[in-house]
Amino acid sequence: MSFIYGPVPSRRLGFSLGVDLVPYKTCTLNCVYCQLGRTTVKTIRRKEYAAKKEVLKDIKKGLRNASHINWITFAGSGEPTLNSEIGGIIAGIKGMTDIPVAVLTNGTLLYRKGVRKDLMKADLVIPSLDSASMKGFKRVNRPHPLLDLKKIIDGIVKFRSEFKGTLWLEVMLVKGFNDTERELDRLREVIKDIGPDKVHLNTVVRPPAEKSAGIVNDKRVRRIAGKFGKECDIIYDVKWEKKELFINDISETIFEMIRRRPVTVRDISNSLGIRKDDIIKDILILEKLGMIKTEMKNGRTYLKEDRNE
Ligand code: SF4
Repeated sequence: MSFIYGPVPSRRLGFSLGVDLVPYKTCTLNCVYCQLGRTTVKTIRRKEYAAKKEVLKDIKKGLRNASHINWITFAGSGEPTLNSEIGGIIAGIKGMTDIPVAVLTNGTLLYRKGVRKDLMKADLVIPSLDSASMKGFKRVNRPHPLLDLKKIIDGIVKFRSEFKGTLWLEVMLVKGFNDTERELDRLREVIKDIGPDKVHLNTVVRPPAEKSAGIVNDKRVRRIAGKFGKECDIIYDVKWEKKELFINDISETIFEMIRRRPVTVRDISNSLGIRKDDIIKDILILEKLGMIKTEMKNGRTYLKEDRNE
């Protein structure tokens, strides 16, 4: 199994070489909007899910095989900070390349000193926080029973004060779950305490784990963004710059992208710099082999891994 995927066009970072440190789908939460589906291993226990040496070997290979990588980004099949090796892996990358490192995390383990220390060498950390009330947190994120929201928020505040890099806070707006004025007012107060460099607003534009997790309409998201202030950006529907990439073994690369999150043919085309027509044949083969399937969402066809659920 490979620990890397892409390069993929991440919404904010241009082209990212993705690093996936936990098996599908290992997380501290089970968010209703999760595009990976429901959490199968809900845990708060950190362990060496992937060995540092093997991951660094993969990253080295990924850097050799692809050009135009803007970031090395930790994301993937679950919560990356659950891997106890993440600190050593970030340090290893720093000894290998000048490409900046980003960590996408749900932020739930930042109350632990060791986790905060592990992320210190990253250039950018993007924790998420979707609710500032325990009720909202339980509804949207369905956390591990031992997680406490107050502790989590204190952890993010503490990390912000210790971390010298850039911190963007991501908020996922889910219709009917965390979009009441009361919820949003509370969240705004907590965000003031955290003091992120930016707040990134998102909504459920990709197929979610639960069909009940609805999209908040664009007009309302814009109104909410206005209230969050000038450091708040809306991050869905960003157009990707087309780049030429040189990657070996295209169908494997396509499958590795689809495995991590639902994507459209256009996403793949933009990410890999390959014409749509040239991708279709690989997609048809993967579909025929029962490895992927399609799903409609908001008028777009998404490709997903077929896990026979
Ligand atoms: S969205 Fe992120 S934090 Fe939430 S369940 Fe999925 S992987 Fe975990």
